This record gives sequence, C-alpha cells and structure tokens, in this order.
Amino acid sequence: MVTTTTGMSENRSEISNLGEFGLIDRISKKFNLQNATSIKGIGDDAAVIDTGDDYLLVSTDVLAESIHFDLAYTPLQHLGYKAVSVNVSDIAAMNGKAEQIVISLAISNRFSVEAVDALYDGIRAACEHYQVDLVGGDTTSSRAGLMISITALGRVKKDKVVYRDGAKPNDIICVTGDLGAAFMGLQVLEREKEVFQADPNMQPSLEKYEYIVGRQLRSMARTDIIFELEELGVKPTSMIDISDGLASELFHICKNSNVGIRIYEDKVPVDQMTFNTAALEFKIDPITAALNGGEDYELLFTISQADFEKVKNHADIHMIGYVHEKTNERVMITKQGNVVSLQAQGWNHFSS
Ligand code: ADP
Ligand code: MG
Repeated sequence: MVTTTTGMSENRSEISNLGEFGLIDRISKKFNLQNATSIKGIGDDAAVIDTGDDYLLVSTDVLAESIHFDLAYTPLQHLGYKAVSVNVSDIAAMNGKAEQIVISLAISNRFSVEAVDALYDGIRAACEHYQVDLVGGDTTSSRAGLMISITALGRVKKDKVVYRDGAKPNDIICVTGDLGAAFMGLQVLEREKEVFQADPNMQPSLEKYEYIVGRQLRSMARTDIIFELEELGVKPTSMIDISDGLASELFHICKNSNVGIRIYEDKVPVDQMTFNTAALEFKIDPITAALNGGEDYELLFTISQADFEKVKNHADIHMIGYVHEKTNERVMITKQGNVVSLQAQGWNHFSS
C-alpha cells in the first residue's frame, strides 16, 4: 500500500523544486484572513493583530538539530540564547518590542537534565537581556535529536508598525552592524570540526576567530537600533531582519514594495576579520559572504531622503544604496564601477 499522507502518489512534486519561499507562497495562497483583527498575515517578519490600543506582533521560528545547528560545536547555552534572539529580531523588524515568548521543545533521551538546564540558562540570559518573559510552551520526546520552536509576542504602537512593503523610489537603503561574519564563523567552525574528526588529538584553534565565531554562536537581535531610531525620530519606510543574507532580504523588500534597488559594494559593511578569513583562507569573495551568507540578524531598512540628516552620523547604521522605481532593477555597483545584477541565493533548506 502506498501511503498518501506524504504525497507519495503518481502526482508527487518535490519540495526542493519549490524551495522554502515557493512553499510558503503556495500555502499562503490557500488562506484568506477572516477576522478584521488580523491586520497582516503570512508574508512579513511577524503577523500583526489588532488588540485595540496597540498592535500585537507574533512570530515563530524553529531551530532543528543538524539543519540549523550542530551540537559538535554549539554550546547549549548559546543555542538557547540564539533561539530567543532570532525571534526577538523578527519582532524588531516590525519596529516592535518583544514582550513574551513560548517555547516548544522536542528532545531525545540522548540529552541529560543538565543539558536541558544549560539550554535554559541561555534562554534565561536572553530573556533578561531583551526583557521578555517566558510564559509557556510544550515538551515532547523526539527520536531525531533536538528541536526548539519559539514563538515571540511583541507590541508596537499602531502608527509605528513597519512592513516590508513601504519602500518608495529614492528612499535610502540602510543596514546595521556588519555582514557576512556569522557565515564566515560557521565556515571556520565546520573546518575545525573536520580537522578534529580526522585527528581527535588536534584541538580546534578558535581564539583568532573570536569575533566571527561569536557572531555565529551568539546571535544578537538589534533591539538597540529600534530604540535609537525612535530617539532620532525616524520611522523606516520598510524593514526586514537579515537572516538569509542581504541579497535575499533586499529581494523581499523589492517584491513586497514593488520597487527595485541599487546598492554599492564599497558601502556594504564587512568587518576586517570577515574580509580576511573569506578572502585569504577560504578564497571566497567577501562581498559574497555579506550578500549570501546568513544569520547576521542585522536590520535592513529604508528611510525617506528627508530623514538622511537624522541618521547620517549614527556609527552603526550604514547607507548602502537607494530604492529604484524600476522593479527589475536589482543591481550592485562594484568597487570597480561595474553594474552587476544581484542573485538571491538565501538558504534553501530543501535542496540537498
Ligand atoms: P523570517 O525569515 O522573517 O522568519 P520566513 O521566511 O520564515 O520569515 O517566513 C515568511 C512568512 O511566511 C512569515 O509571515 C511566516 O509567518 C510565514 N510562514 C512560514 N512558514 C509557514 C507555514 N508553514 N505556514 C504558514 N505560514 C508560514
Ligand atoms: Mg525575519
């Protein structure tokens, strides 16, 4: 008997052909919002729900062992912290502040009580840092390692919410922090793991890579930027957090806002250690790590030209280009002055 629950029939289509975003599009097309309180459904960093005075923001993310993390080099405290950060980051990307989280855990008996303690030590540290409350969750056993699903609830004043779809031609494109470091940190961790597996007497030498390895293992949400933009009196016209790489997130802004973009390679912030590790050790063009690496959890946003003066002296906000009226304009001006079209690779979890 062929089972039909997994779609194993003559009409079977492969998820890998659709990709993650294709799959989400397919799901979302089949659902209409039925309640007037559902302001924004599928398609942004968080859902937006009308609660009367404010908007409630809801976002959820799963971290699955051997897909999103490798316990060979990921301390459980860091994993717990990161699981909270990635959700808080999605709430920040709506210009909101996270207030509560619920956590669902699927865990195999390979893990000890002390391991769970370590995971929750990290979760607690993040809760303290972001001032969010853990208010519930669910726990189940698992035969396939560890899976952590976190849902964050946040709040934003109605006139302050920022979507992916508000970018206008001539708006300035901004990114925070620096990009590509988490990706290069991951490359180093993977390399050291292979060295260790080949010869367990070889101890990993990570001191030299502290910054980029830290960016991979200890992700931080840029809640500070949300606060500072408010202080500066700047409301971005569109915003998204950078989880899948700058290029992929720029494409989301383009698609949702119905615009194009032009960015300048020399304006894209890349840290010196990221640059050297990419160029000298891994023979990767550093801009590729910034454009297509993932997990930076920096913010990408657009501001109107009128707000230029307010933002221009902020040390951690970088203006990398501007929004273009032509929707098919998705280009980068290289350091040599060439115009190249951007490719959004992002992360396709379904390709082998
Ligand atoms: P992010 O990278 O910001 O976490 P995703 O790319 O994961 O965003 O998700 C994009 C949008 O699709 C979000 O609105 C999310 O809630 C929605 N989404 C993702 N997966 C599913 C699913 N399986 N069912 C319904 N909505 C989904
Ligand atoms: Mg996001």
